[in-house]
Amino acid sequence: MADVDLTWLGHAAFRIDTPGGKRLYLDPWLSNPRCPEAERQPERVDLIVLTHGHGDHLGETVELAQQFSAPVVAIIELRGWLAAQGLEERMDHAPNKGGSVEIDGIRLTMTDAKHSSSAEDGTYLGEPAGWVVELENGTTIYVAGDTSAFGDMQLIGRVHEPDVAILPIGGHFTMDPEGAALALELLGTTRCVPCHYGTFPLLRGTPDELRRLAPGVEVLAPEPGETITI
Ligand SMILES: [Zn+2]
Repeated sequence: MADVDLTWLGHAAFRIDTPGGKRLYLDPWLSNPRCPEAERQPERVDLIVLTHGHGDHLGETVELAQQFSAPVVAIIELRGWLAAQGLEERMDHAPNKGGSVEIDGIRLTMTDAKHSSSAEDGTYLGEPAGWVVELENGTTIYVAGDTSAFGDMQLIGRVHEPDVAILPIGGHFTMDPEGAALALELLGTTRCVPCHYGTFPLLRGTPDELRRLAPGVEVLAPEPGETITI
């Protein structure tokens, strides 16, 4: 089976080209200031996974899902709101924490995250979440979403033993590199792809700071638009 190719699209947006040939988009805010021009109009989208409903994560989900008839998996309240925005209603794509959804051999398990979530007009969109993404070849990626470090990350590590953790490091709205170092310790994960930094001046954390604080961890920090194999 092929490798797992992970492309950072700036902020919290990623594309995963899965070993089974699927194109999965995480939190596809493709109009973020750091997303390369060439990545703003995808040629294919097979699956969209959302951590929560804030605009910097929801991004162009509605347009992309409609253009590519792509399934969208999100917590039940957010998924219901998306149906009200014109997407097909799919209860089977609307789990809650602890639940899993399997689509084409990709298993998505929803975890906790410490943050908030609402639409631009203040509409409640359910709790924010993280995901454990298990790909067709067994590679397991923990996507923390926007969160602080929290003790139950230890449980996520114990249950899922992620190969890689995608963690926010910018600070202010999420944990900073110090929090991410603690999160990695709790998870027991030794490979990390940082995100949610550098988009705005407020998001100050850097991968180098995380490297300094988590010396035992391989910090993979692709540039926006860069693809790494994990
Ligand atoms: Zn965010």
